[in-house]
Amino acid sequence: MANTVQGGVRRGGPGGRGGGRGPGGRGGRGGRGGNARTVALRRAAPVERHPVGLAPVMAVKDLGELLDVNPVEVVKELMKLGIMANVNQQIDFEMATKVATSLGWETFEAVPEIVIGQNGDFEKRKEASDADPESTTRPPVVTIMGHVDHGKTSLLDAIRSAKVAQGEAGGITQHIGAYQVENQGRKITFLDTPGHEAFTAMRSRGAQMTDVAILVVAADDGLMPTTREAIAHIKSAHVPMVVAVNKIDLPSANVDRVKQQLSDFGVMPEEWGGDVPFVEVSAKDRLGLDDLLEVILLVADVNELKANPHRPAIGTVIEARIDKNRGPIATVLVQQGTLNLRDVIVAGSTSGRIKAMFDDRGRKPRRAEPSMPVEVLGLLEVPQAGDTFEVYEDERVARAVAEERLSAQRITNLTENRPTRLNDLYNQMQDGATAEMRVILKADVSGSLGAIQTALQKLNEDVTQGVHLTVLYAGTGGISDSDVSLASATDASIIGFNVRPDAAANRAAETAGVDIRFYSVIYNLLDEVRLAMTGLLAPVYEDVTDGYAEVRDTFKLPNGDVVAGAYVLDGKILRSSKVRVLRSGVFLHEGSVRSLRRFKDDVREVATGYECGVGLESFNDLAVGDQLEFYHRQEVARVPVGGRR
Ligand code: GDP
Repeated sequence: MANTVQGGVRRGGPGGRGGGRGPGGRGGRGGRGGNARTVALRRAAPVERHPVGLAPVMAVKDLGELLDVNPVEVVKELMKLGIMANVNQQIDFEMATKVATSLGWETFEAVPEIVIGQNGDFEKRKEASDADPESTTRPPVVTIMGHVDHGKTSLLDAIRSAKVAQGEAGGITQHIGAYQVENQGRKITFLDTPGHEAFTAMRSRGAQMTDVAILVVAADDGLMPTTREAIAHIKSAHVPMVVAVNKIDLPSANVDRVKQQLSDFGVMPEEWGGDVPFVEVSAKDRLGLDDLLEVILLVADVNELKANPHRPAIGTVIEARIDKNRGPIATVLVQQGTLNLRDVIVAGSTSGRIKAMFDDRGRKPRRAEPSMPVEVLGLLEVPQAGDTFEVYEDERVARAVAEERLSAQRITNLTENRPTRLNDLYNQMQDGATAEMRVILKADVSGSLGAIQTALQKLNEDVTQGVHLTVLYAGTGGISDSDVSLASATDASIIGFNVRPDAAANRAAETAGVDIRFYSVIYNLLDEVRLAMTGLLAPVYEDVTDGYAEVRDTFKLPNGDVVAGAYVLDGKILRSSKVRVLRSGVFLHEGSVRSLRRFKDDVREVATGYECGVGLESFNDLAVGDQLEFYHRQEVARVPVGGRR
């Protein structure tokens, strides 16, 4: 490592100091390093040193090696900085720099040249393949979006059951995250996670699978907030759109109103001179489904969707999970080439040889062509939804590539999630800054997990009133007792999406008083989290003025305290009020009332037009003419997101 990251720039002044302190002596005290080590270190004693390049994260022992000292020296330096670490522990660049500096080194940050994922290359290869003369037409990949309850799931189910029943006698569909149907001998692939959250989460990871977006709008309900959001997402992804006006079976259906609303929002129907096909459907009564499929195929033709099936496969992970008996299972969408049983693939930062493949009807195809989704078994770990995958010829190379990506990812994770030291946390609290709500998120499949994380992230941006949501850990699978112990240690709640805790976890949660919430609908989850966030807010206060008084005279008491003879100009003043002193309009002091009297009597309040004696806590500088503003603090009702005060 030292060889690869040492810079070539000559060290300046501090070199003398570093040389003077001489690691020889330090090596000698290293003790257990033995003589050979001591000699080696002596020989390395630098008189003039080059600046040393430090990785964003490195192990204590590697830093020791790089700085030519026994790692124990590094541990000691860290202790001086208040950090307890053993030689195998990872420290970040900042910390490593402090150690290196105190040992007389100059440093620079050596950024590793490993790039996570290969999205850049991936896109290039995909484009090249699109232009490949061997490319042939491929089925379109469709995502369904729209407002909640407008019928996205119903439409997906209706299309699936209508079409599958026609194809295979008794064909039972499996939920694998995507399915294919046939219309007039041509295939269409539907991604099975409706909503733009998943779509956007995938996009943010560089994965673009969708060729056609179906915007579902209920004919009785029309344009709703999520419809607008979905339109924005579709437009920003430059994906062709088809509007499915659903629920036309309802008497209250008003298709023209939907068209009007959408065209006002920039989505102009074809028959009104625009470029967006509108199809009237009823998922419930299975009306217009063939029309919809036909239009999707027309849009696909216009866009000339192509791929070369005669090459090793590349594509994207749609979702992935771990199965107790079968190990990691991933649903992948082949985007170029053909994926064969026994192929070796790298998916994200894991690899493996495909042991088995299943399609959306539980059959075992031996190959998957472009736009076909398949479930694959054989990966060593669970990849993430949105990871790209590629076929490699050599299993060892594949494993090395995956490992390299994994270690690069670890570095990123470590640098991005530097642990907060207690001190920092304390300071944060002292600043009265942000209330933090911590959660551990578990979901059944990585597709939902990604979608929920993205939506929570957005909640964080929406709820700006001083509360911050931190997802401490997010993973697929049931809620385990290790999740519970993490939650208990960090004061976090657990959110389970379509998952339950096992018996041990349940007991542990009860004992530790850890809050576990279960959801099966993303919207409910988000709503409740939003409520919890607003409920967690530090109370908001505002000052309410009780009254004003003017100082007309001042008296000095034998103990040195000053009491003002004051006249209440407006409102009333209370013994319990807080008070601000203003002199010629300038704010002078703020504090509490020490005494409030009428003649010789202590009183609780004095009304407008009366005179009184007022003494202030820790303030004896009152002068004739001072204005006193009396007020109290009151808690303001918290405002739910999107609400009004
Ligand atoms: P999603 O939230 O967009 O996935 O909506 P769902 O598919 O869950 O549907 C929401 C509600 O609308 C359910 O009660 C469905 O039965 C109902 N629904 C869906 N499609 C239709 C339709 O074409 N006609 C009628 N009348 N109801 C429908």
